[in-house]
Formats: sequence, C-alpha cells, structure tokens
Amino acid sequence: MRIERDLSRLNEPYDVIVVGGGITGVCVAREAAGRGLRTLLVEKGDFGGGTSSATSKYLHGGIRYLETYEFRVVRESLRERRVLGLAAPHLVEQKRFLMPAWRWSKPSTPLIGAGVGLYSVLGFDSNRDAPESLRVPRPHWLSKSKLLAAVPWLDPTELQGAFAYHDTLNVHPERLLLAFLKSAVAFGATALNHMEAVGFVTEPSDGRMGTSTTDITVRGVTVLDTLTGERHEVRGRTVVNAGGPWMDLVLTSLGKSLGVKVNRSKGIHLLTRPIGGRGVVTDTVFARAKSGKHVIVSPWMDRSFIGPTDTPETAAPDDVRVDHTDVELILDTVNSTLAPGFDKITEADIEGTTVGIRPLIVEDGKDSYHTSRRHELYDHGPSGVHHLWSIGGGKWTTGRALGEETVVALLASPALDTVVPRRFDSTHVAAGGAFAWAEDAEPFLREAVRSRARLGLSSEVREHLARLYGTEHERLLDLVEREPSLGARVSDRDGVLDIAAQVVFAITDEGACTLSDILDRRLVIGTVGRVSAAEIACVAAVAAPLFGWDAAARDERVEAELARRAAIEAIWRVPVA
Ligand SMILES: Cc1cc2nc3c(=O)[nH]c(=O)nc-3n(C[C@H](O)[C@H](O)[C@H](O)COP(=O)(O)OP(=O)(O)OC[C@H]3O[C@@H](n4cnc5c(N)ncnc54)[C@H](O)[C@@H]3O)c2cc1C
Repeated sequence: MRIERDLSRLNEPYDVIVVGGGITGVCVAREAAGRGLRTLLVEKGDFGGGTSSATSKYLHGGIRYLETYEFRVVRESLRERRVLGLAAPHLVEQKRFLMPAWRWSKPSTPLIGAGVGLYSVLGFDSNRDAPESLRVPRPHWLSKSKLLAAVPWLDPTELQGAFAYHDTLNVHPERLLLAFLKSAVAFGATALNHMEAVGFVTEPSDGRMGTSTTDITVRGVTVLDTLTGERHEVRGRTVVNAGGPWMDLVLTSLGKSLGVKVNRSKGIHLLTRPIGGRGVVTDTVFARAKSGKHVIVSPWMDRSFIGPTDTPETAAPDDVRVDHTDVELILDTVNSTLAPGFDKITEADIEGTTVGIRPLIVEDGKDSYHTSRRHELYDHGPSGVHHLWSIGGGKWTTGRALGEETVVALLASPALDTVVPRRFDSTHVAAGGAFAWAEDAEPFLREAVRSRARLGLSSEVREHLARLYGTEHERLLDLVEREPSLGARVSDRDGVLDIAAQVVFAITDEGACTLSDILDRRLVIGTVGRVSAAEIACVAAVAAPLFGWDAAARDERVEAELARRAAIEAIWRVPVA
C-alpha cells in the first residue's frame, strides 16, 4: 500500500484522471480504482492539504442544517457517518455532544429538543453492523446540575440543561484521508502529489453523437511537477475536477465559460489551552452566545479545539489566511459563554489555528451560513466540453457518496462505454491500514500495546502508532527493530508522541515530499500547536538522507519551514487597523 511518487506512471493512459487530492478526489479515485478503472489522481500541493485538513474534525449529519430544512443532506451525512466509521474504527471516536439550552435560546428549548429527536430518527441505521465502540446511544436530556458537572465552565445564568446526542470524531482527518488514499492505491490507483493540473489536453469534437463541431473533447491534462518545474502531458478518457474551492480556477485554462461557480466560505478554528482545565471536560459543547453566534468547543489532544467561523471569502484559496478578526470572532463568542470565575480565553492561550475554504454551491440570496452543504456533479458535455466533470459542494463526511455518484455517472457516459467495471461496494470496504471492517479497534490496540516490548517503546507510543497506522504500525516497529534510534521521540512536548520511524515511513511509504507534508499531514506534531525550531530540525535530520539533502540544504529547508509557520501566525496576531 505504498504511495510512491513514480513519475513513469504519467506515461500510461488512464480511464479517469482526478484533479485534486482532498477527500472528494481521493474518494473518486478509490471508487474508480475499486471498480477496475485505470485511475490517476494529481494534487497540486499535498494530499489533504486543502480544506480537507481544516475541518471541525467531525463525521456528522450536521444537526444545525435541520434549521434550514436540509433533511436530505442530514440523512445522507448520517448514513455516511456510519459508513466511514465502519471503514476505519481505529481513526474515529464516538463523542457526546451537548447542546445547552438557555431561557433565551433561539431556537427555543422545545424546538432544539425536536431537532435532536429528528436527528436521531434520521440516523435510524447508525448502529447497523456497528461494533461496541461505534454504537450511538439514544439522545437524552441532561439536567442543569448534571450539565454543569460535565461542563463546569458553562455560564449557568438562565441555563436550563442540555440535550445530549452523539457524532463521530474524525480524530486526525489528515490520517483518515491518507487511509482512504492508501485504499485507492491498493486497488491500483496512481496518486501523485505536488503535481498541478495546469491545462487540459483537448481536441475538436467530431460532431458525432450529438456533439457540435465547435465543441471540444478532453483527452487528458497537462501537469506541472511543482518540485522540479517539469511539465508532462497525461492521456485520460475522462477527467474529474475535484478542486474543491479551486474548482472554478482549475477550469480557467479552457478559456470557456462553463457556468459553474464556487461560493467560497472561510472557516477557521483555534487550538487553545483546555477550557476548564486539563481532562475536566470530555464532551463536545455547542456554545451559543446571546448574539446568536455559536462555536463548537471540542476536547482534542488535551486542548480545546474551537470553531468554526463561516464568513464569505473573495480571495483565491491559496491566499487565504487566518486574520485577527477571525480570531476575535471566536474568542468573543466562546468567552461570552463562560461562567463567572473562569478566565477568558485570550490570544496568549492560542497554540494554533486552522483555516479552510468551504467549496459551497452558489444559491442566490443566501449567505454562506445558510447555504446548503449539498453537492453537485457537473457534466460539462452540454456546455460543449466533453469527457470533463466538476464537483461542487459537499462535506468531508459525504466524500465517499460523492465518489460513488461520480464514478457511476462516468461509467454511464459514452466516454467509458467500452469499459467493463468490476463489482465494487465502497460502503463495505475497510480503509487502508484498518484492523478490520466494522470491528472494534480496542482488542487490536490492546494487542499492539503488548507486542514487541523488547523495543523499549512506551505503551503510550505503541498505542499512538497503532491508532494512527492500524495494521501498518507493525511496519514502523520493524523500522525500530532494524534501527533502534528510530524509536526516539521527535519532541518532548506534552501530547506529542511521534517518533523518528514515522518520519522515515512518511517518506518511503506515504508520499511525503516536504517538511510540511511530514509535520502537518503524516505525523501529529504539526497539528498540535506551535512547532519549535528544535522539533523541525529533529524531523529534518531524519528526513535529510532520504531526501538526499546535504547539511546546507537541510538547514535551508528548516529555516524556510520555520519562517513559513511564523508568517502564518504573524498575520492573525496583528490587529487590523
Ligand atoms: C472550517 C471548516 C470546518 C469543516 N468541518 C467539517 C466537518 O466537521 N465535517 C465535514 O464533513 N465537513 C466539514 N467541512 C467541509 C469539508 O471540510 C469540505 O467539504 C471538504 O474537505 C472538501 O473537500 P474537497 O476535496 O472538495 O476540497 P479540498 O480538500 O480543498 O481539496 C481540493 C484539492 O484540490 C487541489 N487542487 C486545486 N487545484 C488543483 C490543480 N490545478 N491541480 C491539482 N490539484 C489541485 C487542492 O490543492 C486541494 O488539495 C468543514 C469545512 C471547513 C472550511
């Protein structure tokens, strides 16, 4: 299941070329490869480096969409929450959500209760095939005293209690995405990161089968290797544009108006000290301020993960950063829900931020908050560009469904009429590295913690490896067995259990090409707060021989990575004048 950056594969012809390696593109590639189609996925940055790594970290139905009567989206998402959980039980966790109700709540308390009840009804099949660890309990009402015992920091004034229900924590979205990508690769897909689609290979249509002679047919893509600057032409019978928030930009090189637009909505999160103290709160809290604004406060990696915002964005997705106004919005909202006596969260408490752009469907007259999270598949044939599809909207949770819908449409089109697909049911396939489909991860994790004690790794580290890599944790243990120094931790920071072997594995088996790929999307270290110069240097020292860097190149890369991370922080720490 090695993700290899083998450029010779660019010379092969493909049935499907997928542009974009977010969760949508990965799921399209998995579905296509699973059905036996020759599949290539190209990603201009790193797999999952776009919106897919900036989520609220939930596989969820989206309870708040009930407010806008999005029953279909909620039902589909709840169905997919179950499917994704069963595919990778080692990378997800059931979380109790608390939806507090105050006397002034809008919607009113009875309406919130009705919403929670309806959410449960729409998730009627949540427990089908589910092992114990993934079972969803019934929602219930929590009295004010029980709520305050569970969440002592919540402002008790006019508080009535809370509705409790469950959703699924996508503990490390970067790793779950990689697990689905590995599964695509195992079915035969080729996946190349740092490979940007910069144009389409086209030819005039022949005027047959209802096409016009002014139409064009897409025959592949031109890609730019952003690591070397080399360009390649790749032939493909169909192309799927899964560029997420870049979707319209991917199409610009065609020079034709295809009438598809993206409604870009910026969403940020803050990672802060744990509100209420370490280990005190284990539930996720829907913190609603009197202003009507709300944030979700999730306990994550011994910290609080707070967000998201939802603001319209006009900048190109590559230029979007967290700014001071975003940070203030979250701090104001969460601080107004704190009980007297609890210290307000300040900028000094912020250890990290995430930012992503939601690629929403354009709905006239609606702001991004009220815009549907549904998805659409655009066949550009009727607009005169054949064999090209684009995907708009969607959620992390519905990526698999979107992948299936897309490949079914491709297979029904004349472009692939000679292909005989394999039978494939992605609702019943484990993600790469999963211990087993629809089985509790716990016994496997317990076994993993006991195994190979002679290596001297702490049980915490062994569990960390098994949770992140599933069955592949054995491969990391093999590395440590061969070279014991690879068992060393890359940081002594609280909660960071990554070891040097993961750096090696990231490069040899998981397609990492840069320090950021390793820190932010293969290891956990880059996602849990500020990464120090010493930590980056430690990772770089392990990576350098594998990347072929000499000492000067290594130091240069470390400096550049440090500067990149500092620049991100410098923007939001400065108040807007
Ligand atoms: C703040 C926030 C919180 C969210 N929380 C949740 C949540 O909890 N649960 C949930 O289900 N959903 C959530 N979502 C929505 C979800 O994250 C997105 O819908 C989903 O990740 C979109 O995936 P994608 O693959 O379409 O886009 P992306 O992940 O952005 O992937 C598109 C990829 O295309 C690549 N690309 C662009 N142009 C090119 C090119 N020319 N060549 C090659 N590659 C290219 C980009 O680099 C990018 O990696 C959240 C979104 C935000 C912003």
